[in-house]
Amino acid sequence: MFKNLRQRISAILVLFIAAAEIIAGVLGIMNFTRGVKKDFSDSITAVFTEENRKVLTETANAVVVVAETDENGDEVVINETESDNAGKLRQILMQDADRLGIGTLSELYIMNGSGAVLFASSGAEKLKATDAISAAIGGNERYIDKYYTDYMEFALPLMVDNKVGYIVYIRRNLSPSHATERRLIATLTAAVICSAAAMFLLSLFIMRLIKKPLKELANQAQRVANGDRVTIEEIESPDELGELTNALIYLSQSRNAHEDKSYAEKTKVEKILQNMNDGILAFDMKGNLMHINPEAKRVLNRKFVDDIKFNKFFKEINADITLEQLQYTPNSDSAEREVRINNRVLQLNFVLFSRESSEGGVIVVIHDVTKHERLESARRDFVADVSHELRTPLTVIKSYADILADTPDAEPQVRTRFLNTISSETDRMTKIISDLLTLSKLDVDANYSRPHDDIDIRSMLENLVDRLALTAKKKDQKLTYTPINDVPNLKGDHDGLERVFTNIISNALKYTPSGGEINIFSSKMFNDIVVKVSDNGIGIPKEQLPNIFDRFYRVDKARSRDKGGTGLGLAIAKQTIESAFGGKITITSELNKGTDVTVSIPIPRKA
Ligand code: ADP
Repeated sequence: MFKNLRQRISAILVLFIAAAEIIAGVLGIMNFTRGVKKDFSDSITAVFTEENRKVLTETANAVVVVAETDENGDEVVINETESDNAGKLRQILMQDADRLGIGTLSELYIMNGSGAVLFASSGAEKLKATDAISAAIGGNERYIDKYYTDYMEFALPLMVDNKVGYIVYIRRNLSPSHATERRLIATLTAAVICSAAAMFLLSLFIMRLIKKPLKELANQAQRVANGDRVTIEEIESPDELGELTNALIYLSQSRNAHEDKSYAEKTKVEKILQNMNDGILAFDMKGNLMHINPEAKRVLNRKFVDDIKFNKFFKEINADITLEQLQYTPNSDSAEREVRINNRVLQLNFVLFSRESSEGGVIVVIHDVTKHERLESARRDFVADVSHELRTPLTVIKSYADILADTPDAEPQVRTRFLNTISSETDRMTKIISDLLTLSKLDVDANYSRPHDDIDIRSMLENLVDRLALTAKKKDQKLTYTPINDVPNLKGDHDGLERVFTNIISNALKYTPSGGEINIFSSKMFNDIVVKVSDNGIGIPKEQLPNIFDRFYRVDKARSRDKGGTGLGLAIAKQTIESAFGGKITITSELNKGTDVTVSIPIPRKA
C-alpha cells in the first residue's frame, strides 16, 4: 500500500499521533462525564443523609394548627395545609441550595403525593412525569444518572400516614455538560488534524535527512551487486546509516577479496591445465565441450574444437564409450580406454564429477603412451634379439660338442675344426656379452665415472691404422689416415673413444670388398673435432639408414654375423660419443658406392 519508505514513515507518524490523541481525548471525555456524574451523586449523598431524611419526613408529617377563636371564643382546629409543609420542606432544602447547585445546574421540585408541583425552583408549574417521578409516586426513591439524556434525577418520596405525602425531586441539567463535551471533541479533532499535519511535515523533513545518503548507498550497493569495484567512503557517524555504510564496505571488500581469490584459483588451475603433460578435456552433462588444454589439442591433432561433442567425438576416434554409459552405470564414476590416432597410442581416463548436480560433467585425461609403448616394444624386441643372438652360437656349440661326444674316434682334423668352431662361437658369445655389458653400463649411468685421460686423437688414429693395416692388407684394401689440421687434445675416456673408432674403421674394412679404399680424416672445424671414416664399400640402403644405430640392427644379418659382427658396435659408438663426449655421430651412405661415418666432438672451453 505504501510503496516507499517516506510514505511508510509518514503514515506511521500520522497514525501514531492521531491514535495517541484520540485515546487521550476519549479518556478525557470519559473522565469528564464520570466527574459530572460524581458531582451530582456526591451532592445528593451529602444532602440526603439519614438525619436530613428524618428531618424532612418529620417536617412532612408536621401538623400545622392554626388556632382561631370562634364566636364562642372556643378554639377551632383547622387541618394542616399542604402548602405550609411544602414551604417548610423548601426552606430546609434551600439551605443546601449551593451544595445541590440549585439555581445554577440543578432544579428543585416539591410535589404532593400525586406528582402535582407545589414548589419549583425554576418557577415551572408543571413537570412531565419521568421514571424517577413515577417511581416516587409509587413510594420508591429513585436515582437516575444516565449521561446521554437531558437530566440526571433524584426523586425522594416522603411518607405521611403510610402514603406518599410529598416528593422531593431534584434534577441536574446535562445540556451544559453536553455542550462542554462537544467543545472538547471539536478541540480534540482540531488537535488531531493539526498534529497529523505537523507529523506529516516532520516525516518529510526526516526523509530529506536520510533519503540522499540512503539513495547514494542503494546506488553503490547496486554497483557492488553488478560486480563493479566501487570504493565506498567509510562513514564515521555512529548511527545506523554509518553502520549500514560500513557493512556495505565490508561486503564489497570481502566480495573483492573473494573474487581475487577465485580469480587466482582459476588462473592457477588454468596454468596447471595448460602446462600439464597430459591432455585434459572437460564436458558438461549434455556432452558439450567446456574446456580443452593445449596438450589435448596437440595429441588429438585438433586446431578447431567447436564441433566436439562427447558421443560423436569418442565414436569418431573409436573409443567405444558414451556419456549415457558413464552416467547410468551404477557405482562407476570412471572408465579407461586406449585409442590409436595418427600412429599415437593414447590412454583415455574418463572421470565423472558431480553426477547429481546440473554443474556436473566428465573430465577426460589423455595420456600419450606412444613413447612408453615404443619403449616397451623395443624392450621386448631387445630381449628377443639378445636371446636369439645368444642362442645361435649356443646351438652351434651344443651340436658340435654332441657330435664330438658321439664320435670318440673322429679324425683329428675334424676334431680340431669342431673345437675351433666351438672356440670361435664362444668368443662371439663373449663379445656379445661384453658389448651388452658396455651398453648397459652406458645406459644405467650416462655420467658414469668417466676417466679423465689425456686423449691425443691424432696418435690414437695413427696407432689404429697401424694395427689394422695388416687386416687391410689381407683384403688388398688401401687404408689411409690424413690429419687435415692440428686438433687439440681431449680429456675423457680414452679406451671408450678408441673402441668407437676401432668399430667404425673395422666396419669400413668389413663392408668394403677387396681392393677397396678406406680413408680417415681428422680436422678441427670451428669448435669441433671432426673425424671422418670414408669407404667405397657396399654402402647401406637409404631406407635402412635411420635404424643403423639400433641395437642388433644389421643390414644383412648373415653377412654381418659371418664377419663376426654383433650389431651392437654402432649403438655403443653413438651412446659413447653422445653421453661421454657430448658429440654426435652421423652416417651418410650410398648403396654400392660407399659410406661416410662422421664423428664430431665439441672442444671443451678452457676454464
Ligand atoms: P656389426 O657388428 O654388425 O658391424 P654395427 O652396429 O657396427 O654392427 O653395424 C650395424 C650394421 O651397419 C652392420 O651390420 C652393417 O650392415 C652396417 N654397416 C656399418 N658400417 C658400415 C659400412 N661402413 N658400410 C656398409 N655397412 C655398414
